[in-house]
Amino acid sequence: MRPLDLAAVTLPRLEREMAGLSPVHARRLWQTVHRELTPELSGPAHFQPPLRRWLEGNAVALTAPEVARVIRSEDGWTRKFLLRLADGQTVETVLMGYPGRFTACLSTQAGCAMGCVFCATGQAGFTRHLTTGEIVAQVLHCQRELRRDGRGRLRNLVLMGMGEPLHNYDNVMTALEIVTDPRGGNLGPSRISISTVGVVPGIRRLAEERRPYNLAVSLHGASEADRAALVPVSQRWPLHELMASCRHYTATTGRKIFFEWTLIAGENDTVDQARQVAELLRGIPAHVNLIPLNPTAGYAGTAASESSAHGFQRILREEKIPSTIRQRRGLDVAAGCGQLRARAGES
Ligand code: SAH
Ligand code: SF4
Repeated sequence: MRPLDLAAVTLPRLEREMAGLSPVHARRLWQTVHRELTPELSGPAHFQPPLRRWLEGNAVALTAPEVARVIRSEDGWTRKFLLRLADGQTVETVLMGYPGRFTACLSTQAGCAMGCVFCATGQAGFTRHLTTGEIVAQVLHCQRELRRDGRGRLRNLVLMGMGEPLHNYDNVMTALEIVTDPRGGNLGPSRISISTVGVVPGIRRLAEERRPYNLAVSLHGASEADRAALVPVSQRWPLHELMASCRHYTATTGRKIFFEWTLIAGENDTVDQARQVAELLRGIPAHVNLIPLNPTAGYAGTAASESSAHGFQRILREEKIPSTIRQRRGLDVAAGCGQLRARAGES
């Protein structure tokens, strides 16, 4: 039988696993993992005897990946970790921030099956889903780092690292339930953003289940053909179905959607395309994030120029669509998703 991964259980599940014991012990163990951030469970001596006995008599583990590599940005505020999982797979977690407010960017899969042409993770293909424990462990790792250097707390989470979160829906949702539990890590659900390539059934499910997180949809193309050229899964979930699921999401939840647009020179950075975006998003509460492409080894495209990014934004502004041009912060830490792993030659 596989050991019970303490990073992967919700507190109610842990209480069920520890049935017969006072819930005080489950709570104590949970807080050791999520508040004290203990990296391993070699039986802290200060546990009470019933809890110690339970730990001795049950197969439990605590996922804590090994740090294979760390790269720090020149300004010191961004750190990118290459984490090695138990089976040797590696994933990236990025911790970025300013004093007092840090954001962790998490991976949800080893590789990705969606194959977006400009993405280093997509170029490498899919290996497997991350477990709930492997997703939670990335948060715990960042919390430990922040505690160690005393620079502040983790405030925001973005699921924009390697992999497609809505392709690993159940593990991602359980992980988010765990890290937002007020009795544990207590991260604010409204400070968590899930970025999807446009997995339509997942977007519908998020809405139906009233999940309290922010949604970002990676758009990149505003016509069926333009989008499918960059995002092959657009053939499976065409743009018109994607937009219908976005309308359903905003109508059901009352939330706006963030749309991600990777700006590629000569590909999707024209004024014409900006007008098409405005047309596509009409009636949807939206915010557009414009992100200049980070060049990758497997794709010949280059980043849009600053002037075309501003030109694109000007059109959106005229059409009353709010947008932000995302700074290329942390470019010096091999910023784009999957790029550190690609550079390290790891799988
Ligand atoms: N799979 C999800 C989340 C991970 S990718 C998704 O696709 O949304 C997070 C974001 O990074 C996406 O918007 C993706 O399009 C973008 N991205 C991937 N590779 C990039 C690159 N080389 N340059 C700029 N943005 C990139
Ligand atoms: Fe996967 Fe997102 Fe990369 Fe596309 S951009 S290949 S969905 S990780």
